[in-house]
Amino acid sequence: MKRDYYEVLGVNRNASLEEIKKSYRKLARQYHPDANPGNKDTIEKFKEINEAYQVLSDSEKRATYDRFGHAAFDSRAQAGYGGAGFGQDFDPFGDFGSFGDIFDMFFGSSTGSRRRESASRPTKGASVNIDVTLEFEEAAFGVEKEIEYSRVEICKECQGVGGKKKVACPHCRGTGEIKHTQTSIFGSIVTSRVCNFCRGKGYIAEDTCQKCHGSGKMKTTRKLKLKFPAGVDSGYRLRVSGEGEAGDNDGPAGDLYVSITVKPHKILDRKGKNLFFDAEVTYTQLVLGDEIEVPTIQGMEKIKISPGTDAHSVLKLRGKGLVDPSNGSRGDQFIQLKLSIPRRLTGEYKKLMEQLAELEGQEKNKKTGGIFERIKEAFTSTEG
Ligand SMILES: [Zn+2]
Ligand SMILES: [Zn+2]
Repeated sequence: MKRDYYEVLGVNRNASLEEIKKSYRKLARQYHPDANPGNKDTIEKFKEINEAYQVLSDSEKRATYDRFGHAAFDSRAQAGYGGAGFGQDFDPFGDFGSFGDIFDMFFGSSTGSRRRESASRPTKGASVNIDVTLEFEEAAFGVEKEIEYSRVEICKECQGVGGKKKVACPHCRGTGEIKHTQTSIFGSIVTSRVCNFCRGKGYIAEDTCQKCHGSGKMKTTRKLKLKFPAGVDSGYRLRVSGEGEAGDNDGPAGDLYVSITVKPHKILDRKGKNLFFDAEVTYTQLVLGDEIEVPTIQGMEKIKISPGTDAHSVLKLRGKGLVDPSNGSRGDQFIQLKLSIPRRLTGEYKKLMEQLAELEGQEKNKKTGGIFERIKEAFTSTEG
């Protein structure tokens, strides 16, 4: 007669899954054949425990068992349940393998196999940051420049092995991990840790590489041709993927970050993609209109001042700015007019200005309709 599964696991019928698991773990340790070599009774007991656990740890199977008991899992009764995987033979060894595996299952994350994974997992190399200063024109029109920086690379001499030959690590026999068996009252507990000797690689290098002294990596000066797009500005940063330092365990190389500084233009002011220039003009240029020449990044450019232009006017040279590298749009150049006042007047100039002033005075009188004359008259009449 088969024993009741709840009885086998030593839990009551309302036991939670946690309680079932807990009890199962305890019993599995106690009756595991590895912990009881040559004891036939424990093998039977271990099978019974596993069978009970397979059913009670599965909510569906457990519900079926609660209703129909062992009959539900009897091979003869199986047909009635559509052969839904019930009643299979329980093979505790097939499912569980060695004792070590049971512990892997229970304590998954803390076992050596995971740790070993992280120690020898491919990791991306560190990124490298460099600064590059560009001339104004280089930034304005784009430039291809060879830059030089130092980074850690895989040793070319030994391809990162560290020596001429790869030999299986004698400490871990090439597995990269050291297994450790501890005996306790529950039996033996197997733990594993990363092999320190080969740092989890599983091999050691023989005949140490003279170039890298066994490290497999070396500091190298890297020369690289970089394209700086037109319109870059101070504060821009370029990312060049894969040009940083070498990764570990065949991981990819890190990235190179190039921080850009752009020297200012000798004459023009830059704000983003727009350029600014102050142009000094005279009174007569504003009054009569003129054509002046102003510097742009493409050379001298003519711009018209229409007659009667206000001082402080801003003129625009459309499309004469810089390219915005993020969207390809072009900026403008703005010409800020500055009225220049002559400080010292030469003879002829002075004479003309005085004539002009006189003329301006007459013009003013005409406009005001001889107001001063009338005020004068008013005063005279009161006196008289
Ligand atoms: Zn080397
Ligand atoms: Zn090793």
